[in-house]
This record gives sequence, structure tokens and C-alpha cells, in this order.
Amino acid sequence: MTTTYLTKSRYMAGLQCLRRLWLQVREPPDDAPPTPGTPADIGVEIGSKARLLFPGGVLVDEAPREHEQATTRTAALMRDPNVPAIFEAAFVHGDIRVRVDILERRPDGWGLIEVKSSTSVKEHHLDDIALQAHVMRAAGTAPCAIEALHVNTAYVRGPDAIDWQQFFTRVDVTEDVEMRLADVPTLLPAMRAALVTTTEPTVEPGPHCSTPYDCAFWDRCAADKPGDWVHHMPRLKQAQKDQLAERGIVAISDIPADFPLAWKQGVIREAIITGRPYVAPDLARLLHRFGPPACYLDFEAMMPPIPLYAGTRPYQTLPFQWSLHVMDADGSLAHEEFLADGTEDPRRAFAKSLIAALAGTSLPIVVYSAYEQTQLRALVAHFPDLSEPIEAIIRSLADLLPIVRGAVYFPEFGFSNSIKAVAPALSPGFGYDDLEHIADGAAASAAFAQIASGATADPADVTRLRQALLTYCKRDTLAMVEVHRALVALVQSSNLRECH
Ligand code: SF4
Repeated sequence: MTTTYLTKSRYMAGLQCLRRLWLQVREPPDDAPPTPGTPADIGVEIGSKARLLFPGGVLVDEAPREHEQATTRTAALMRDPNVPAIFEAAFVHGDIRVRVDILERRPDGWGLIEVKSSTSVKEHHLDDIALQAHVMRAAGTAPCAIEALHVNTAYVRGPDAIDWQQFFTRVDVTEDVEMRLADVPTLLPAMRAALVTTTEPTVEPGPHCSTPYDCAFWDRCAADKPGDWVHHMPRLKQAQKDQLAERGIVAISDIPADFPLAWKQGVIREAIITGRPYVAPDLARLLHRFGPPACYLDFEAMMPPIPLYAGTRPYQTLPFQWSLHVMDADGSLAHEEFLADGTEDPRRAFAKSLIAALAGTSLPIVVYSAYEQTQLRALVAHFPDLSEPIEAIIRSLADLLPIVRGAVYFPEFGFSNSIKAVAPALSPGFGYDDLEHIADGAAASAAFAQIASGATADPADVTRLRQALLTYCKRDTLAMVEVHRALVALVQSSNLRECH
């Protein structure tokens, strides 16, 4: 059964694409509680903390499907002069239902306050707020002020509990929203039409699918595209995509040889057409400083939106884990690792354990991206007494990513240079598919944050998550080993071919 009313999320979906709105109504995402550590979960938590700024406020806790009861309750609370604020206040106008995060009673009326877990007010937030203001106004309660409440990244947690007044920044967005209010009625008819039609709107997937959010229906909309769809070509400008579309060219393999492409794009096109990988003739020279013997290093870090430790800021990056593989000249491997326990700021123990593990080494320290260097520089800034040994580590870093990006391309990379795409392509059989609990950096970050915040406290769960973290990070440095070995083998096989 479909429901033909508009809400904030449907309106935002419709602004992105009418097809998305249509699909969202007919194939709604499940309404299971958000996974811990995901943006949706963070949004819920920050939203509940924002209510602490309005003591005495009352929550309208009727579920979304109980909108009528929620509006009745909101109206009753608005009539009660003892209620200073209403959370999740419900309004309806015609076929539009909205819930307002915070409605604040003021001497001159009601203030509409939207809570965001972001660190600033974004353009698309204003569209969302404009719909709420439109409905409130039409329902007879024009807000006297419109504000956004977002996370203040300048806030530094003190030794005690979070100071929520300082944690949030209040921004008056009345003028910005007013400028958008006139647009709302003009946008609604097309959305209403999309709500009632039984025919899926025809919208080709394109750049709008990731702006402002990645659309959940991407796989569905892109299902009929070829595997080498021109959309996948890295750094292809929209104007070039438009030119190809005008010529009816959908696949990279169909791009004519005379179509202007950047060098790497030409390499990709050629590799797809021939099925043969590209290997730069000077790969041996490029790999010269990488060993082996060599060390392979990877970090995991978290960015807790609500600071967990004194002296840290919202969303500050805090490295908590490293993995280090060391390969001898004969190819044998040793492994070391560190994983903080989360009870205190992990950075100092992280830095000291890494310094100890790498003390005295003169080997290149292979990384994959500039991420490790960025984190080490932040540690230097925070721990001046450790700057010398950390600077020594930084001087030994050897980044394999630019080598892969510039000197090698296999069709199996699938248009990505990420270690998770490159390692299985260069080393068949290697992969991450067997990792059950944690298989990417975001999941690792969320898992550690769960442990550190106490959200996961059951000892068995903590042990399971910690083991999954250790397994995942170790796999990432092993992936670097595999990529490096494969690149060395490519050099050796091309040398052999030259000898013959
Ligand atoms: S993937 Fe793109 S075209 Fe498809 S529904 Fe989403 S925004 Fe629209």
C-alpha cells in the first residue's frame, strides 16, 4: 500500500530526484533502528542531547504513523503556558506532515529549531527547514525565529561531563530560510504527481544521485548499465559525459580513439578494450625505495562526534590501532600490532607503542595513502616530546598508492585504486570476504567507538569486536604486502621477457 502524503524526508528525496521520491514511497527502506556508529545513529544521539538545552521541554513521542495524535498533542502543549519547549512537535497542512525537532516558546511566539549532527549548516538543511516553516505557517503558527543547532568543533571537552551549551552552536537562519520559502509551493506539484503515479518516473542516474546524499536506489537505477559504464571513468568531466551521451556512447570500450581523454583515462580505456593490464616501463625504478625488506603500516582511527576524552574536540580524529608487517629480504613475514583499550585517550599509547615497534629500523615503511602521515603529523603537534622519533617514522614512509595510481592498471581494479580493490586483483585469492564483523575502516571506527563509549559493555561482545578489529587491520597490512609482492613480480616478469 502506498501513502500519498509528503514528509520532510520525502520532500528532500523529491528535491534530489522524483524517481527517488517515487521509489522511497513504494519501496521504503526498513525502519529498523540505525546501526550504531552510522550517521543516522549519530543524528539520533545528537538530537536527544540537544534537548538538554531546553529544560522542561516535552517530547511528543507519538510514532510517525500516529501523526494525527501527535498534532493534537502538540496543539495541547502549545496551549499550556508551562511548557517552554516541545520536542518532535507535529504539524500538518493538507498532504504535508512535518515534525519539528525543537519548538521553543519565546515572548514573541514560537522559535523553530532544527538540530543537525553536522559541524555547520549546509545548503540542503535550509530546504528541509523551509518545508517545516511552510507547514507551520500554513497551519497557523508562523515561527517567530528559525535556527539551526549544529555541533561546535571548537569545543574542547573538560575533565568532567560534556558542557552541552558549549557543544552546540546556535545559528539564526531565518533570512536564509525565508529566501527559500517562496520556492516550496512551486516545487510541490511535481512531487505530488510523482506520489500518485503508478509509473516509475524516468530519470537517468547522474551526478545528482550523490548530491546532497548518496541515493539508496543507485544499484537499482544503474542495473541496466554496462560494467564499463562511462560514469565509472575516473575524473571524466560532466561536459565530456554529456558529449558521449549525445553520441549515444554508454560504455568506456565504445569511446572512440579520437575522443579527448586524460592520459590515465586512455590507459583505462585501452585496458578495458584489450583486456590487458597496463604496467609502466619504469615500474622497477619507481619501486626502488620500497624494498623488500620493508615494513607495512596501517592505522585505524575514530572520530567520535561527542568527545569521549578530556582535551578532545567533537569529530577529532583519534588513532587507536596500528598493524605492522615486517618482510625480510628473503620474503618471510613478522607481525606486530597495537589496539588501545578505549578507557582513555588512545593517542599517547598508540604513539609510544609504534615508536617502540619501529625503534632502530632503517627499513622503508610502506603505507597506502597519505593518511598515516597526516595522523603522525597530528601526533607530533600534540606530543612535542615525541616529535623526534615520530618525525623519523615520517621520513621513512613510502606511499605505494601513487605508484599503483600512476604506473599500474588492471581491468580487475574496477575503476578503483583502493587497497580493497587492488589487492584481490593483483593477488587472486586474497580478499576481505571472510571478515564477518569488520571489513572496512568505517566499521572499525564504529566498533571501537562502541567499546570506548561503553555502548558495548558485555565482555563477550567486547572480546568479539576487539578480535575483529585486530583481524581487519592485520588484513590491511597484509594487503599491502600482497600488492607490493605482485608489483615486484610484475617487474621481474617484464625483466625476464626483455632477457628473452
Ligand atoms: S539513483 Fe539517482 S536516478 Fe535513481 S532514484 Fe536515486 S537519485 Fe534518482
